[in-house]
Amino acid sequence: MFENVIQKIKSLYPRMESIPLHAPVFRSNERKYVNECIDSTFVSSVGAFTNQVEDKLKELCQSNHAVVIVNGTAALHTALLLSDVKPNDEVICQSLTFVATANAISYCMAHPIFVDSDEKTLSLCPKKLEAFLKENTVQENGACKNLKTGRRIKACILMHTLGLPGHIEEIQKICRTYNLEFVEDAAESLGSYYKGKHTGTFGKIGVLSFNGNKIATAGGGGALLLQDEALAKKAKHLTTTAKIPHSWEFSHDAIGFNYRMPNINAALLLGQLEFLSFSIKKKRDIALSYKEYFQETPYQFISELEGTISNYWLSAIRFKTPEEKNEFLKVTNEQKIQTRPLWKPMHMLDIYKSAERTSMEVTERLYNTIVCLPSGVPND
Ligand SMILES: *Cc1c(COP(=O)(O)O)cnc(C)c1O
Repeated sequence: MFENVIQKIKSLYPRMESIPLHAPVFRSNERKYVNECIDSTFVSSVGAFTNQVEDKLKELCQSNHAVVIVNGTAALHTALLLSDVKPNDEVICQSLTFVATANAISYCMAHPIFVDSDEKTLSLCPKKLEAFLKENTVQENGACKNLKTGRRIKACILMHTLGLPGHIEEIQKICRTYNLEFVEDAAESLGSYYKGKHTGTFGKIGVLSFNGNKIATAGGGGALLLQDEALAKKAKHLTTTAKIPHSWEFSHDAIGFNYRMPNINAALLLGQLEFLSFSIKKKRDIALSYKEYFQETPYQFISELEGTISNYWLSAIRFKTPEEKNEFLKVTNEQKIQTRPLWKPMHMLDIYKSAERTSMEVTERLYNTIVCLPSGVPND
């Protein structure tokens, strides 16, 4: 079974004994910059590469400001703190996401509320979001109050699943109406655009990740994209232990975090970002080749919506039944072709099963039928 699909995958990644889901490729100045970084002795939280990467990200994403962070999860935590999420607040996000999105809410001692995804973007469903807010909240002194719990709902995170831009405008509009801070988890969507504008730059704060499996890697790393100068200053301050700049004194004016990306990680990342557009082109070529192929099959390729450009971080297909999906996962992994289901939805995890949530029929359907295919840049 699936012999033709397997042949197709192998044809995209020829001469490889095992095919990873997504492996990093180093083909630019990574080694040179890392060596320069070592030679300079500035390998830790201060150094020129961190600043260069911030400038590069501003340019690539057309963002007013960028602040590099030790990883994407810490960047999400910081984004919520900067959005004034306080203990006992509530924050909305989709259930179909990587656990870091929900964990960042927990780190703030806040409570997640999980909302269903929509069938096409796999991301937060604007209709479900609006229905939930309409039914369950009132506005009180300019804040959104959850009638059931009496707590304040402070923010809403939209995660752009697999690099496919979500329904940004609709969700941002709902957030404005209900007085919620809008945060984009663009960890998977570096190089993805919505109506010509880079994901992560729509609200005040967006988050990127440079983990080893992302489209560009720092080894481990993340960043905040910020549009407001005062907030960007605050972000840098908070993530560098809130130290008051001074040539020798150590003084801190808040309980800050040691969250700055080390210079040696920034050196690696700078090399990666220099050929980002090449990586995206290669990954889109792979995705379009899958798309064309799957048109002639009973399996549905998950495409970007009109008006959006996806970086196709992970190409994915949808099966008709869970049995078919499971069989495909088994057969491909046995043949050393790394395929993966989506993350188990947050509301199905023991750690989050008691969290408030909407009905989850779409999320569960997507989780039960979608498989991610090898999607890395071919190493030739
Ligand atoms: C990768 C990822 C993150 C951040 O992960 P780090 O490994 O901490 O950089 C956050 N959210 C989503 C959706 C991700 O895929």
